[in-house]
Amino acid sequence: MKEINNYINGRASNKSRNFLPVEDPSTGDQISKVVLSNVDDFKEVEKSSEKAFKDWSKYTPLKRSRILSKYKEILEKNIDTLAKLVSLEHGKTLDDAKGSVIRGLEVVEFACGIPHLLKGEFSENVGSNIDSWSIRQPLGITAGITPFNFPAMVPMWMFPISIACGNSFILKPSEKDPSCGIKLAELFYDAGLPEGVFNVINGDKEVVNLILDSEKISSVSFVGSTPVAKYIYERSASSGKRVQALGGAKNHLIVMPDANLNQAVDGIIGAAYGSAGERCMAVSVAVAVGEIADNLITAISKKADTLKVAPWTDPNSEMGPVISKEHKEKIENYISIGVSEGANLVLDGRKIKIQGYENGYFLGPTLFDNVTKDMRIYNEEIFGPVLSVVRVSTYEEALELVNNHKYGNGSSIYTSDGEVSRHFTTNCNIGMVGVNVPIPVPMSYHSFGGWKQSLFGDHAMHGIEGVRFFTKLKTVTSRWPKSIQSGPEFKMPTN
Ligand code: NAD
Repeated sequence: MKEINNYINGRASNKSRNFLPVEDPSTGDQISKVVLSNVDDFKEVEKSSEKAFKDWSKYTPLKRSRILSKYKEILEKNIDTLAKLVSLEHGKTLDDAKGSVIRGLEVVEFACGIPHLLKGEFSENVGSNIDSWSIRQPLGITAGITPFNFPAMVPMWMFPISIACGNSFILKPSEKDPSCGIKLAELFYDAGLPEGVFNVINGDKEVVNLILDSEKISSVSFVGSTPVAKYIYERSASSGKRVQALGGAKNHLIVMPDANLNQAVDGIIGAAYGSAGERCMAVSVAVAVGEIADNLITAISKKADTLKVAPWTDPNSEMGPVISKEHKEKIENYISIGVSEGANLVLDGRKIKIQGYENGYFLGPTLFDNVTKDMRIYNEEIFGPVLSVVRVSTYEEALELVNNHKYGNGSSIYTSDGEVSRHFTTNCNIGMVGVNVPIPVPMSYHSFGGWKQSLFGDHAMHGIEGVRFFTKLKTVTSRWPKSIQSGPEFKMPTN
């Protein structure tokens, strides 16, 4: 059985002999096993990262940027290899996997501009003959803990910027699909990264706790479910770390009566069922305003019913399996809960069977109508191909739903009324907002992050927020000897 180890100092390494199985979700078969690191593994990674930081932080930003540019070229040649690793261990379609790798690569592209991004601010004559400037310096050892649903893209939201800023970085990938993390590190070393700047340690919550409690690690970046995000935030902060912890979501898409119905339906289908609904920006609630509801439900149901659910090896697949047997059962349970709560089950994904893949974790597109705000299927994140439609009479009711939900990751509105759209973008209590766009994921040079229970900490990922998160600010005030007035001053200096 293939072993997936840690990757420390540019080579495979691990002391622990405990492993967890890694499965192919399309077949349910075990395909490899991943190490569950112990305290000795952690000490090794901590030591390596500490040593690497000392030299790496002294590299000029331009020298770092050149290694990143080389990395970008190497990644471009390896998009297919990385995408296949994503599809094999996660199950999503190959095209979708490729798209996610490219969105990650774009963060490397952004980070190549680090000399410009690290330029500070300078003020001449803040006082007579006194100048002042602000600079941003690296933090030290930084760490990232990532979820199963984007094994390439989410780590790439973090480490390229951290490393470009002069930090060393420790990645703890999801134990469900750990191969991408190792491959991303190997390719970075091919680009000339010095030993220990990017290390990967595998495992579960035991190694996560060692990261959170380490006195040598300066920051923790986390993406995953809300209960774990909150735990990571609180435990890391209590040991003095800087934290950005992104959590779960329940993204609403509002369809106004004046929306272009075909565009709205296409947007909803892709955003609700793409990647089997296992995206933090997936649309899990469609809010139908007024008389558009009946036509919307009919059109969604008709299209969703014809989606090709198949393994990623089938080039016509539009939706793959969910990640695991347990997760499939959890989603099926939510579908039963929705029925018992009185929602109208229009499409039931539990019935699907894929010939030759009977043991795979497949579910079909599921659609509920007449969902109400008191139901569990409305309030809780299901993270599967389950779309709930809530019917309301007015835009104000739709906005209230969006704003009262505990999650605040993403939300979109489909309308042809500019005034309504402007009101929505200004007044919704949400981090990432779309107008006639189903999944408003910001590009690498903007920043990704939700509000409310979708993000703990005050920095979103990548873009300029990423640069700020991975650096600390220093402000220097300077006067040269000949201009110094004689005698002490006891009052606050003013101009
Ligand atoms: P998860 O929270 O179960 O796991 C995320 C990471 O935390 C993994 O590396 C895992 O090993 C670790 N972990 C799990 N339980 C832990 C514990 N008790 N203590 C310490 N560490 C623990 O999330 P997941 O199932 O891998 O991913 C799906 C979730 O991620 C969904 O809720 C989804 O919305 C969320 N997500 C959010 C975003 C975002 O940007 N907000 C992006 C992607 C995914």
